[in-house]
Amino acid sequence: MHEMALAESMLEIVEDTARRNGAARVKVVWLEIGALSHVAPDALRFCFDAVTRGGIADGATLTIVSTPGAAWCMPCGETVPLARLGDACPRCGSHQLTVAQGGEMRVKEIEIA
Ligand SMILES: [Zn+2]
Repeated sequence: MHEMALAESMLEIVEDTARRNGAARVKVVWLEIGALSHVAPDALRFCFDAVTRGGIADGATLTIVSTPGAAWCMPCGETVPLARLGDACPRCGSHQLTVAQGGEMRVKEIEIA
């Protein structure tokens, strides 16, 4: 499962940050997931619960923030908004698109105690 690997690398970032700040516990994790990434939020949530068990982030709330997607459209010659992967260009209907923004996932912020 691809989300398990993502959850593990996410946990590494969270634990590193928590340790650097001398935290005893991680209370909330804010995660940004791009609308054009291949991440399934529900699956990620499930994996996050599994990998955090027994650690510093055990029981932490995972707050997922979705960031909008944008793609470079070849025929239009400009960047256009894109809601989902596989969608056509909203201006010209072309599929000659390259994801420009919203394909990534990152830990935005954590709240520690
Ligand atoms: Zn276009």
